[in-house]
Amino acid sequence: MQLNKAEFDTLCASEMKLPETIRPSQLPIYATSSFAFDSIDEGIDTFLGKTGLHFYSRYGNPTLELVAEKIAKMESFGLADEAVGIMTSSGMSAIATLLAGILKSGDKILTQGNLYGGTTELFNKVLAPLGLQPVYVNLENLDEVEAALKAAASIRMIYCETPSNPTLACVDLAALASLAKQYQCYSVADNTFCTPYIQRPLHWGFDFVIHSTTKYLNGHGTSIGGCIIGKDLELMKAKVWQAMKLFGTNLSPFEAWLTNSGMKTLHLRMERHSSNALALAKALEAHPSVEKVNYPGLESFAYYELAQKQMSLPGGMLSFELKGGLQSGIKFMNGLKHASLAPTLGDCHTLILHPASMSHVNIAKEIRENNGITDGLIRVSVGIEAEKDILDDVLNAIG
Ligand SMILES: *Cc1c(COP(=O)(O)O)cnc(C)c1O
Repeated sequence: MQLNKAEFDTLCASEMKLPETIRPSQLPIYATSSFAFDSIDEGIDTFLGKTGLHFYSRYGNPTLELVAEKIAKMESFGLADEAVGIMTSSGMSAIATLLAGILKSGDKILTQGNLYGGTTELFNKVLAPLGLQPVYVNLENLDEVEAALKAAASIRMIYCETPSNPTLACVDLAALASLAKQYQCYSVADNTFCTPYIQRPLHWGFDFVIHSTTKYLNGHGTSIGGCIIGKDLELMKAKVWQAMKLFGTNLSPFEAWLTNSGMKTLHLRMERHSSNALALAKALEAHPSVEKVNYPGLESFAYYELAQKQMSLPGGMLSFELKGGLQSGIKFMNGLKHASLAPTLGDCHTLILHPASMSHVNIAKEIRENNGITDGLIRVSVGIEAEKDILDDVLNAIG
């Protein structure tokens, strides 16, 4: 039989038509850059914004949208009004996309000195030269916040993180949201440390929440991703989605799919992270070589009352100060047998960081100490292993 070579070549290059009758029971990965129209009329209507159909994955993709919708539902859980979410390529791109999308040159951002390190760098090195200046105050001091708002009408946003890294200091979400409203500013909270299972800033009146989904939402350390959630649906569509699609800060469908798988156990993991962390915090507090323990679930912690009010669980992050400074910090890290020495957080296994010799080694001692990062400070992202194994590992390493 004579084979038709041309027909075979075209078969190689062609796309098989999807069956329309089979619905997958799990979220599929739409690994497609574009979507094809059934007719030119459908194409015209779609480009005019009339159909809401997908056409190019930078603008929108079903895998991304379903994951964003789930996170938005969790953040707005129990509220009368819905919220909308947009997935981004990382936590950093969620912050950059939101701020560049809704602020304009000359607008100032009122924020705290103890933000996630990358966020402070983004503010100082990228956004400030573009005309979006950060104004650093102590967001715990509401008089200081109000004085700053009164002094500069160009402050258009309050941006916060609670609990913050690595000292777990908390700020009052309800009070900051109400000041933001009074002075007509946007309010934005980075909710990465808590996840919506523990804390929901929209409930306290915040306009926007951002996440690094890389951490607890994925929970397994298998992807980098971010999400922006907002209550003002118009603004999210007109400004935030526009910035995302024009900067091209969309997440990849595969990373979204990994995040989706991780989120199915979020409730179980956050319970276990919290109970393990509380047990570790109590054991550390009783240890003679430990100067101080920072953990929202300890009654001795300065932010205990505030954490009780706005967090439903104390979470999986804690830090503690070893007596004996830098040397005891390094000795401790070398003594760990089970935990990973890693600068991330929110994975299933315990991750431990010694900021003075790792993440903050290039920062002057005086500057880091002003932010509570002393020589002997150890940060722990407490995992979901058996409680006893975590306690044994940490307490043995202290010696
Ligand atoms: C990790 C992290 C970020 C940045 O997220 P990436 O996904 O690494 O870009 C922002 N905020 C907090 C609190 C984080 O822990």
